Amino acid sequence: MNKCKHMFVSYAYLIVNFGGNLKGTSHLAIGVAIGVAAVAYYPLSLTNSALYIAVASFSSLSADLDGPSLLSSKLGNISKLLQNLVLGVGVFLTGTVLYMHFFQHSFDRTFAVIAVSTLLLGFVARAGFIRNALVSLVGLGLIYSGLVWSMTWLIAFGVYVAWVPWLKHRGMTHTVWAILAWGGIGWGLEQQLQVQGIMIVSVISYFSHLLADTLTPSGVKWFYPLYKKSIKLHI
Ligand SMILES: [Zn+2]
Repeated sequence: MNKCKHMFVSYAYLIVNFGGNLKGTSHLAIGVAIGVAAVAYYPLSLTNSALYIAVASFSSLSADLDGPSLLSSKLGNISKLLQNLVLGVGVFLTGTVLYMHFFQHSFDRTFAVIAVSTLLLGFVARAGFIRNALVSLVGLGLIYSGLVWSMTWLIAFGVYVAWVPWLKHRGMTHTVWAILAWGGIGWGLEQQLQVQGIMIVSVISYFSHLLADTLTPSGVKWFYPLYKKSIKLHI
């Protein structure tokens, strides 16, 4: 339990610092806030708390796996360092999951979710062919795992991760259809882990991303391709 608590505290610290240093955007900060709200709302357990925050943070950023995001342009040196740190931690945690699985024959699903989320989080604000290829590779790994373990939601999540990097920025991932698909994946994860609230946390967090983008000058094509115009909100 102590190890778990320690992991949670370091993870939350990392996320909050990472979020606090992203200038020009508040996606991650909003996601963390949603995760914290879920922690306060649902019955308290350390593993579940880490899970809510990981799911909320990831859901609030995953729409931007579709390409160079707002995050990448105005990063200071400290942000870049933290970003590399998140990626490094993600690689390390995912490596640990793979090592445990193949060499120790043990597998902790919650830990695996946190590891892969962190890894993908580290990729969000990057750009380029190699980054896209690596994200797709993670997606293919998820599809493979979903097939092996007969988990439909994991296959769907894998398809999302493998496909999205190659899409036009603020295209299909920034639509109501994507929110529905994301909700379906969240529902599957909720059933899998038997942790109440995962679906609603993922939907609210994903929605928060689109809403925040709607407040920017280029807006969001919420109903693309049915209605191709950008919807913007000026405050
Ligand atoms: Zn976006």
